[in-house]
Amino acid sequence: MITGNFAMLAGVRPLEIHQWYLEVYADAYEWVELPNVIGMSQFADGGFLGSKPYAAGGNYINRMSDYCEGCAYDVRKKTGKDACPFNALYWDFLDRNADRLKGNHRLGPVYAAWARMSPEQKQETRQSARTFLAELDALPKTY
Ligand code: SF4
Repeated sequence: MITGNFAMLAGVRPLEIHQWYLEVYADAYEWVELPNVIGMSQFADGGFLGSKPYAAGGNYINRMSDYCEGCAYDVRKKTGKDACPFNALYWDFLDRNADRLKGNHRLGPVYAAWARMSPEQKQETRQSARTFLAELDALPKTY
């Protein structure tokens, strides 16, 4: 869930994350892995398997795990250098894909929350996501 969520929020091409899972997991069999990744994890099957993208920000990850204790990022912060990157990426993903996802009734409350944010907050969120992704792109490639 964590890596799939991250790939989707970051805008990784679904086919590439599908191939990555096949390469890194010795027990990844394509007939199981493909529907799980393309359908459930990446919502790249047009909503055939899932009724909404399995997208989550830091709060959800914090609720469902103990990963955030001791993390260098602050899960409560939405933007800024030490803010949990999942927070800005989450909203940025929803914003980038609003044309496709806004009509999804399960995402109504989420888009209503986004609509309540000020233009400055939205811009800061978008910028935070862009900065994080640019920093990620600048890292040396190890594969
Ligand atoms: S605070 Fe750290 S561990 Fe928690 S979701 Fe964000 S990046 Fe992951």
